[in-house]
Amino acid sequence: MSYQRSSALFVEAQNVIPGGVNSPVRAFKAVGGTPIFVKRAKGAYLYDEDGNQLIDYINSWGPMILGHANAKVIEAITERAKQGTSFGMPTELETQIAKLAISMVPNIDKIRFVNSGTEACMSAIRLARGFTKRDKIVKFAGCYHGHSDSFLIQAGSGASTFGTPNSPGVTQGTAKDTLLANYNDIESVRALFEANPNEIAAIIIEPVAGNMGCVPPKEGFLESLREVCLANGTLLIFDEVMTGFRLAKGGAQELFSIKADIVCFGKVIGGGLPVGAFAARNEIMNHLAPLGPVYQAGTLSGNPLAMAAGLAMLTEINNDNELFTRLEQKTAYLEKGIREVLNQNNIVFTINRVGSMISVHFDEEAVVDFQSAKKGDNDTFKKFFHGLLNEGIYIAPSAYETWFITDALSYEDIDFTIKAINKVAKTL
Ligand SMILES: *Cc1c(COP(=O)(O)O)cnc(C)c1O
Repeated sequence: MSYQRSSALFVEAQNVIPGGVNSPVRAFKAVGGTPIFVKRAKGAYLYDEDGNQLIDYINSWGPMILGHANAKVIEAITERAKQGTSFGMPTELETQIAKLAISMVPNIDKIRFVNSGTEACMSAIRLARGFTKRDKIVKFAGCYHGHSDSFLIQAGSGASTFGTPNSPGVTQGTAKDTLLANYNDIESVRALFEANPNEIAAIIIEPVAGNMGCVPPKEGFLESLREVCLANGTLLIFDEVMTGFRLAKGGAQELFSIKADIVCFGKVIGGGLPVGAFAARNEIMNHLAPLGPVYQAGTLSGNPLAMAAGLAMLTEINNDNELFTRLEQKTAYLEKGIREVLNQNNIVFTINRVGSMISVHFDEEAVVDFQSAKKGDNDTFKKFFHGLLNEGIYIAPSAYETWFITDALSYEDIDFTIKAINKVAKTL
């Protein structure tokens, strides 16, 4: 496949945009080569500027769970756009999507919409701090909660890809209030609580980690976090920006039957437009301005185009009782196929999967936390990535990323992918 036009566009972009991209991992630094400039996408496929068709296993990093350019979502956006694109005033749409989200997700009474997952997580910890009147938070190495200062401490994927887990520009003052624990290691959490009694406002966690590859919580781990939080007057924040409306209608809370105190959303909830949200029970949400003292605002928050896209997306998901079963079956089929061909070719690997989130690691040890995720063989991954790209298959350009399966993906697409992986495996 030729990527001439993408290469030329990348050169041009680099003159005017830092690194030529508006989000670092897009620059292909971890895998080398030139990023692909996309022209359009439909269903399971991307079409790039050189006229190549690619099967998409990233799907905008999660949002396109129903495939690209879903007819219902596109119609909702188009119709809404004709009536004006922003007012900075309330619209009925916001109440409609809020009601729907609250009906789908367990344990939340109110929801506030923002413009990204970053904003959602940033606001959630401010709310937790305001509510508990404490300063410190616990996060897990390898978990990503967006790029706000408090979270840029061993933040997984993007940050790790670039070897700057602690970004310059984050002050010592901010960093000292972020305590770091190890994923799937409850003792590391208990130790922080012992060392910081009555100081921890919240634990924030990706209930299934998705930014160091896909790392499922060990049996009992989330339950233990829930207990530790209850025992210490600390709030449990589930960052479901990735898992929300992807692992189940009610996200990880539903899948694992665990109640979080605050839940963050992004990605799927916006139907492909920039949307984030955070939600909790009344007792907590009523602390938020204008009801309470914790300030949070946004000129474009609840934007009508974004809300229309999100509402159409959530409506489709809510009305389809087979969706998550289909996604589970397709992804299980893909997993089985990859295992078979990698085994046949004597490749050392580990695959992690929860529902439609899956990751392939070139290491035989189980990947259970950031430490083990980092052990994967990056050179093998690079060859794997470029090999697949050459076969017309687009996976994330970093070994630390999860693949997101879309409902638009057919079994023929998956068979094609497995064959391609078999071919590429022979070159690893
Ligand atoms: C993507 C992601 C974010 C950040 O969302 P943005 O919309 O990129 O700001 C936060 N948390 C998790 C778990 C994510 O996967």
